[in-house]
Amino acid sequence: MPDLAASLVEPTGGFPIQNMMMRYNLFAPRLYNWCKSLGFNPGKIMPSRAFCSDESQGYPIIMIAKHFGTFPFNHGVVGGIVATDRHGPHAAHGQDMLIIQASHVGYDPETETFGTYRRAQTTRAECSPNCGKVHQVLAWYQNEYDFAGHNILLHKEDGRKIVIVDNQLLREDRSDGLLLHLEKLVSTDDRGRLMPLRMLSTAKIHTPAQTLVDRMGESAFNGITPQIIGANLLADMFHFRRNIPQMEEGVHHLEHNLIRYMPQIVTSAAPTLTAAQINTQIEFDRTFRTIVKEHAYKGKKVLFIAGLNVDISPQPGQLFPLTKFVPWAAYVQDSDGYYYTLEQQELVETLLQQSTENPEQIDMEMAIETMASAAEVKFKL
Ligand SMILES: [Zn+2]
Repeated sequence: MPDLAASLVEPTGGFPIQNMMMRYNLFAPRLYNWCKSLGFNPGKIMPSRAFCSDESQGYPIIMIAKHFGTFPFNHGVVGGIVATDRHGPHAAHGQDMLIIQASHVGYDPETETFGTYRRAQTTRAECSPNCGKVHQVLAWYQNEYDFAGHNILLHKEDGRKIVIVDNQLLREDRSDGLLLHLEKLVSTDDRGRLMPLRMLSTAKIHTPAQTLVDRMGESAFNGITPQIIGANLLADMFHFRRNIPQMEEGVHHLEHNLIRYMPQIVTSAAPTLTAAQINTQIEFDRTFRTIVKEHAYKGKKVLFIAGLNVDISPQPGQLFPLTKFVPWAAYVQDSDGYYYTLEQQELVETLLQQSTENPEQIDMEMAIETMASAAEVKFKL
């Protein structure tokens, strides 16, 4: 298998991954031992997870259960959104509180690409998007971006550089769509008004803005036929507008989180990776405050850690993905109300200082055997 770290492309957004990630079989005991070092009482810790519903998240959940000796409380909804209205029930189910948030992204070691994952249970064990929810949310934005990239054309006419822009892209009063920062693309008069040189049936011809010429270079305008701007339509040249129904922590929460960052996401080398990272960052920032304010957590020890689950497709002979956790940030609260946060570097260092040995981890097979051989309980009806 190729070295994952070596094949990573640093995304344009999000957070560093290289030298930050750890496999779940090492992360889970380190997290458990960190909890103990914070004074968490073994056997009295209630872990919870805010993970996507994807079955690829099962292995991390099993590792949490094994090391903490209990199945983790479900604290999340699809896409890795924290269900903050479940803080109360979570607090009631244990003495010391652990919350793990992770957005996730697939990784296929064969093609060395992010955003895809092999589904062994499908008829031909084919690959599909991962995170599927992130992929679904991104699709509309990527389509709009592709359209814009193909409908802004650079050329020369009568020896003058020109830029041809689709009529819809020129309209700024749309409620939905990709909206250009036109001043970065076309020349305007001194009051900022557009000055088309000529009208076409579905587009207008403009003089390019000097910043566009500087960025693209002279040769970009010298094609025999008009050349699309394509991937040279950069994140600072546009933004998106879309009416997304308002529903806190509902099906559109992920899209609300991401829309502001979509130019950065759709232009990144690995959009689903960048989107998952940004979602983790937003969810940590949003959730941290809800924990601070949550009455049910008052007087309790709380550890909230957020990061990214990278699901490496199972190889032949493997039942589970080789999931790696990339820590982003953590919030630590003591029972006297004192709290602090750890940024990525100090969080990784803190975890790396912990032992990977956990003599208190449970033997899952034995636990299941104990249940199978337990005396029958008859219900009194
Ligand atoms: Zn997912």
